[in-house]
Amino acid sequence: MALERHELRHWDGRRLFVYGELRGSLASEGHADEGGATGEPASEGGRDLHQRLDRLTGDWIAISPARNVRPHLPDESSPGPGPSADGGAACPFCPGGAEVPFPYDAAVFENRFPSFVEAPPLVATDPRVSPSQGRCEVVLYTSRHDASLGTLQPEELARLLAIWRDRSAALWADDRHRCVMVFENRGALVGATIAHPHGQVYAFDRLPPRIAARATALEAGRAATGRCATCDVIADDLAEPARRVIDVDGFSVAVPFAAHFPFEVHVRARRHGAGRLADLDAAELRSLGAALRAVALRYDALFGFELPYMMVALEAPAGVPDWHLAFEFLPIHRTAQLLKIRASVETATGLFINDTLPEASAASLRALVVAAAIEVDVPAISEAAAPGRR
Ligand SMILES: [Zn+2]
Ligand SMILES: [Zn+2]
Repeated sequence: MALERHELRHWDGRRLFVYGELRGSLASEGHADEGGATGEPASEGGRDLHQRLDRLTGDWIAISPARNVRPHLPDESSPGPGPSADGGAACPFCPGGAEVPFPYDAAVFENRFPSFVEAPPLVATDPRVSPSQGRCEVVLYTSRHDASLGTLQPEELARLLAIWRDRSAALWADDRHRCVMVFENRGALVGATIAHPHGQVYAFDRLPPRIAARATALEAGRAATGRCATCDVIADDLAEPARRVIDVDGFSVAVPFAAHFPFEVHVRARRHGAGRLADLDAAELRSLGAALRAVALRYDALFGFELPYMMVALEAPAGVPDWHLAFEFLPIHRTAQLLKIRASVETATGLFINDTLPEASAASLRALVVAAAIEVDVPAISEAAAPGRR
């Protein structure tokens, strides 16, 4: 059963992909393509986007002034499900909101406040500056405001996996991109300004520093041992049950040996060659869905509240054969009350100090009783001939 993808354009040129049945249109449809197809920076302040080289570290820093005006959560509560009838704060991600003004099942749109855009403003001829080439997309997991990664219905989770595969494959296929990252910031503590269940996809025109460092480490591992270092890590994860969180075919689900964060969990493809979402077969996709759901449910059960976390899908950059696809969960809590704050030493040096024993964290997560596993069958995507497209 294929899942249809409809491509639409907002009045400001930003793409909107609706997955499944199309139940409405954008007011601007028809004339949007003329201006929109150029990919002009969509947001206010988009013309200030650029990257700067820190010559003392070799790192590139993305300068994105418009992000300072993006919406923030009120102190006490986030916008409720919307659209709001009473004039109160309504959720812009709910059906009928600013981003998808009609009913939908799941959707992806280009971020109103991007740090990287398809057609970035030109920059001066200066080796310290470069255009902010890339993409920033937002993935709406479901129209249900109160859902979460752990509580998606089987068909919603299957659709989400299909959407991640579809968007990441499309962005990897663009040769301007050297790195694509699907991720989710869940909770205000890690910067999610809107409570509606959503994640994001970024595409970068160069390998970000830690991604480049990993690629280099894998190359060095291969040179030193003749083997894939990731295969070795997975063999250790499977051989050391004290760090294992759950058992799933096709993936290792464990607190890593050298965890940076107290309750960090890595969900890593076991099969050598499964470097990207697009490489997974149907059985592996089923396992991935089960694993992600199991981890999210355990986080929610850990302290009795929806644990904020960062979740990043790390896919293999081109030419890095020893990189296995991994979803890495990075929650910042040490206990129900205490947060892991990266203070002077860790921020300045990049050295992490983990105040917990990874084996103890894994034991806590493993012991939790959560809802039973579900089975997902991830659909293939088919492109619909949407009205309003070229
Ligand atoms: Zn909502
Ligand atoms: Zn391997």
